[in-house]
Amino acid sequence: MSAALPSIHSDSVDAGDFGLLVHGGAGFVPEALVPAHIEGCRAAAREGARVLAAGGSALDAVQRAVEVLEANEHFNAGVGASLNAAGGLELDASIMCGRELRAGAVCALPPFASPIAIARRVLEDGAHVLMAGDAAARWAETQGFVRAAPADMITAGARDKLARVQAGGESGMWAGGTVGAVARDARGDVAAATSTGGTVNKRVGRVGDSPIVGAGTYADNALGACSCTGAGEAILRLTLARQALDRAATSSAVEGARRAIDELGRRLAAVGGLIVATPDGTLAFARNTRTMTWAWETARGPARAGA
Ligand code: ASP
Repeated sequence: MSAALPSIHSDSVDAGDFGLLVHGGAGFVPEALVPAHIEGCRAAAREGARVLAAGGSALDAVQRAVEVLEANEHFNAGVGASLNAAGGLELDASIMCGRELRAGAVCALPPFASPIAIARRVLEDGAHVLMAGDAAARWAETQGFVRAAPADMITAGARDKLARVQAGGESGMWAGGTVGAVARDARGDVAAATSTGGTVNKRVGRVGDSPIVGAGTYADNALGACSCTGAGEAILRLTLARQALDRAATSSAVEGARRAIDELGRRLAAVGGLIVATPDGTLAFARNTRTMTWAWETARGPARAGA
């Protein structure tokens, strides 16, 4: 008999003209840390929504929201990101605009304070979609980005977590705390962004789903925008972000999110969560993990957040 699948938790809201939803990673946030994670998500959603309320683009809004989360050491992105098996940082991020299907991403990037800002630069440059490793870092420097000192980005919490995983006391399968945002702006454009340090104790050179267009992140004005979090190898194999949006297009935002997470559990016995913004202005999320902190701000209702 197969083990019982974890149940799926989901919610959605009609955002009206514009709205933004962020996640702070699927996983299990210990109860004592939940308020800080929720507050971090709220702050990011507030900043992103401010961009939308001022008439800004969904693309600028998701970038801003993810920058706020990258700067918050509680999350597994930017400062405080998870460490690889060698105790170093290799950062993954991607951003996509649904209007013209423009996308930019970086993977296995050495320490920079905001990988999502570099991913955005890749998008704006337009020559390529995905830049990797030290060559990506050298290109970023030509664009004015400054490398961060590892000591400024590696936190005691990240070091402790790596030590626990390497001692065999805890699974490093996925870290929790990966961050993402989806938005729909007043023009009807959608965008998505995701940033992470990846899984704890990953092999040097491992790249997860987060920087891969279609897997960790996807946006298309015809379908919607999606950012995923959870077991990266399974999300990659299912191209989960695109799957969720394809399903949303034939049902609803929340149904699409639920069906994609159901597939993750049923077909690959994997766990994760995702957030969606559809062209009609609906925001939705689904997860089969114990927690996934989130926050939304909309043009109509009150802001909300949860775990
Ligand atoms: N999906 C990320 C990765 O596998 C981890 C996470 O979402 O926490 O790199």
